[in-house]
Amino acid sequence: MAGHRPQIPAFWWVNGMGAEIKWSFEELGKQSRKAANVLQGMCGLQPGDRMMLVLPRLPEWWLVSVACIRTGAVMIPGVSQLTEKDLKYRLQASRAKSIITSDSLAPRVDAISADCPSLQSKLLVSNSSRPGWMNFRELLREASTEHNCVRTKSQNPMAIYFTSGTTGAPKMVEHSQASYGLGFVASGRQWVDLTKSDIFWNTSDPGWVKAAWSLFSAWSNGSCIFVHELPRVDVKVILNTLSSFPITTFCCVPTIFRLLVQEDLTRYQFQSLRHCVTGGEALNPDVREKWKSQVGLELHEGYGQSETVLICANLKGMKIKAGSMGKAFPPYDVQVVDDEGNILPPGEQGNIAVRVKPTQPFCFFSCYLDNPEKTKASEQGDFYITGDQAHKDKDGYFWFTGRNDDVINSSSYRIGPVEVENALAEHPAVLEAAVVSSPDPVRGEVVKAFIVLSPAYSSQDPKKLTQELQEHVKRETAPYKYPRKMAFVSELPKTTSGKIQRNILRRQEWGEMRGTPRK
Ligand code: ATP
Ligand code: MG
Repeated sequence: MAGHRPQIPAFWWVNGMGAEIKWSFEELGKQSRKAANVLQGMCGLQPGDRMMLVLPRLPEWWLVSVACIRTGAVMIPGVSQLTEKDLKYRLQASRAKSIITSDSLAPRVDAISADCPSLQSKLLVSNSSRPGWMNFRELLREASTEHNCVRTKSQNPMAIYFTSGTTGAPKMVEHSQASYGLGFVASGRQWVDLTKSDIFWNTSDPGWVKAAWSLFSAWSNGSCIFVHELPRVDVKVILNTLSSFPITTFCCVPTIFRLLVQEDLTRYQFQSLRHCVTGGEALNPDVREKWKSQVGLELHEGYGQSETVLICANLKGMKIKAGSMGKAFPPYDVQVVDDEGNILPPGEQGNIAVRVKPTQPFCFFSCYLDNPEKTKASEQGDFYITGDQAHKDKDGYFWFTGRNDDVINSSSYRIGPVEVENALAEHPAVLEAAVVSSPDPVRGEVVKAFIVLSPAYSSQDPKKLTQELQEHVKRETAPYKYPRKMAFVSELPKTTSGKIQRNILRRQEWGEMRGTPRK
């Protein structure tokens, strides 16, 4: 396609300290063929063999991903914050034959590799050498540029993703050549609005499924993938990068948008930015409103899972209803069902479910690897049950309530944490909030809010502030939902991808009273 697109690279990497790499599609093709020869020749990977990719945002991640597809090896991305224990769990569970990682993680792999008998080769992305490791950069330099892509079938495995582990041990989700290879094309076009003129920046760590949009979606739509090494989340770096590079399309998680809107955004000029998307957890309407009023651009929220690619979205041009995660995204038929799998009428809260019978949608996952019981348990009648709750309105918009376990049952009222958190977020004192259930001798359980205060409010009297916030929630939403308990904290527990782990706060609450967690 290179001849028919504007003069922008296929891949553009910067590290913020002057280093920069730009590849055309032609160069990318050449480099990825070399990388494929390293995987086949030096690591001896055959189609179906598994390879773990645990790299920070380095160009090699993109090369090795394409090389896996060329060789038929199954890629298993992992985030770069993995500890020795995490690595051991993932290498043992996946029986990966090979791993590629960076200097900072190699010692952790060495510490546990004796316990991972399937692991046969280790590739290091580094400018120096390390005993027991092959140097990927050196091998790449010497590798041949000739490579014949293996032929795979649509149902052959292509990728195994570990879920975020928001509610427990991460699960291994296997996707086929068809589900990921094609599943991301349409959502890239219609939700992320990617075209061959776009330069797309997605801040996600390459280990999370969200990064797959800046692999499959971007290149299949002819767009340029922009990457900043971003060793840690730094709001100023993000805003300066959006100002100084011709980035047209931007994606990051709601947690980061929450931080970005704390800044005076009118001081920045994002000259080329035209489309913004977010997802992975609920977006507070207040954050969307602040982004929109200061940047002048809409924030298009999407909802999906490692298991499914995109399930619902606010597509470009669609009317956006504040607080809704949009409508079902084709080919999915998305319904709200009760615990027996019966479709509920508009307005009623229940399980978000995706129809998988009689025909399984092509972008749906193959299975939870080595866990047929769990795969089976996720189905109810004709539907796959996501484990999330919502209601659908009469126009087909979905309104997220919370994950099943996060929904609070107080005096028989079912209260979703997200609605209460959104109400709290509208108060200027609140930087972030997480709402969970807490034991109560009369009501069984009540709503408790953990709040991180905005700096300007951090020295205010907590008692007065509690009352003020309680009154505020009663005004903003149905009064029975107001948090009867409140705690001010310096930070909220989060997964490394930035999702709030309400289950940890809930366990704290219930553990304190009974010594055992509630759910
Ligand atoms: P685990 O399954 O290991 O507990 P996880 O569910 O967080 O972790 P992912 O597959 O990365 O792992 O995330 C999918 C989940 O993220 C969804 O099931 C949902 O709970 C949440 N999510 C994604 N997008 C949104 C959104 N727009 N609004 C609310 N929640 C969202
Ligand atoms: Mg999940």
